Amino acid sequence: MTASFFQFSLDGLKNYLVQHGCNADQARLLFNWHYKKNKVTPCEINGLSTKTKEVVNSYLNFNLPLIDQIQTSEDRTVKFLFSFQDGKKVETVIIPFNQKYTVCLSSQVGCAMNCSFCYTGTQGLTRSLKTEEIIGQFLAAQTWLTLNRPHDNRILNVVFMGQGEPLHNFDNVKTAVEILISQHGLSLADHKITISTSGYLPGLLRWKDEMPSVNIALSLHSPVDEKRSQLIPINKKYPLKDVIPLIEQFPQGKKRFVTYEYLLIHDFNDSEEDALQTAQLLVGTKAFMNLIPFNPFPGTKWKRPSTERIQKFFEIIESFKIPVTIRTTKGDKILAACGQLNSL
Ligand code: SAH
Ligand code: SF4
Repeated sequence: MTASFFQFSLDGLKNYLVQHGCNADQARLLFNWHYKKNKVTPCEINGLSTKTKEVVNSYLNFNLPLIDQIQTSEDRTVKFLFSFQDGKKVETVIIPFNQKYTVCLSSQVGCAMNCSFCYTGTQGLTRSLKTEEIIGQFLAAQTWLTLNRPHDNRILNVVFMGQGEPLHNFDNVKTAVEILISQHGLSLADHKITISTSGYLPGLLRWKDEMPSVNIALSLHSPVDEKRSQLIPINKKYPLKDVIPLIEQFPQGKKRFVTYEYLLIHDFNDSEEDALQTAQLLVGTKAFMNLIPFNPFPGTKWKRPSTERIQKFFEIIESFKIPVTIRTTKGDKILAACGQLNSL
């Protein structure tokens, strides 16, 4: 049995090499080769010792998830169904913007949080993804783009908004982030990476000391605990009064903010009163609001509000000078929009 190369942060790989009798410096050469040059075999790396080559060839593999299905939509969004070695599957979406892409990564097969508005939530949790399976989604999507859209193939943004609660898989998500931002790894800017959470407090408590300085997004969906708990059951255990003050400490630097995602559901949380209460909760904080009109999926009882209601909600938030956007729904015809991912 070989181990995956893509499970290691740079430091992790250094330790692994040292344990196998190689020089720690060789890790940087391997990282540069595999992530920057996107090569599979290590044979041609200048400066790589025979011993390291031997260790790599005998003990490591560079397997990527397999593409089980691909769906593309008119707006050039692509949804991949990837399958891993044990046959488990997740969905990953790449969303185009200005000749570049945002990749929406999954962190778990299914999700344990059981939110009532989320297609993934209806699946339950099968298992968390390993670091190499998270990085594997990025690399496999990148490889597909290079082959199929060679003239606009750059993935510049990463959002952990696919299947799963990323902070419920803290260690593996953290290592994946380290690889994404490593200057010898995938070299993404830390402010181009966003981790979205339903407010899973055990992960948030570790964030400040352990997570690199990437962006955080909180799925708010209602400022009222009683309503929020109907949408996000873990709110009963981890209410907003514990979550928000903690999250507000994260953004570093003047330009950093917390994204508050607000799912707008017809006749549930889309009234003017809801908008006012939300604005009162967030005014004066580092909030940037993202309004997400509910995306329907088979079997759901919730509905999307009318365009007028969405617009009214937007205007109320804006009148408090809170920066706010309405998320345009890309890829919803192929069920690739937020909350529409389900891989069973
Ligand atoms: N588990 C994390 C990240 C994945 S969900 C979280 O909950 O934040 C990513 C975003 O999609 C969240 O804001 C989530 O609330 C939203 N979402 C889930 N189901 C949705 C649906 N049916 N329509 C629109 N957005 C949805
Ligand atoms: Fe899990 Fe997020 Fe879906 Fe809730 S919204 S069930 S936390 S993926």
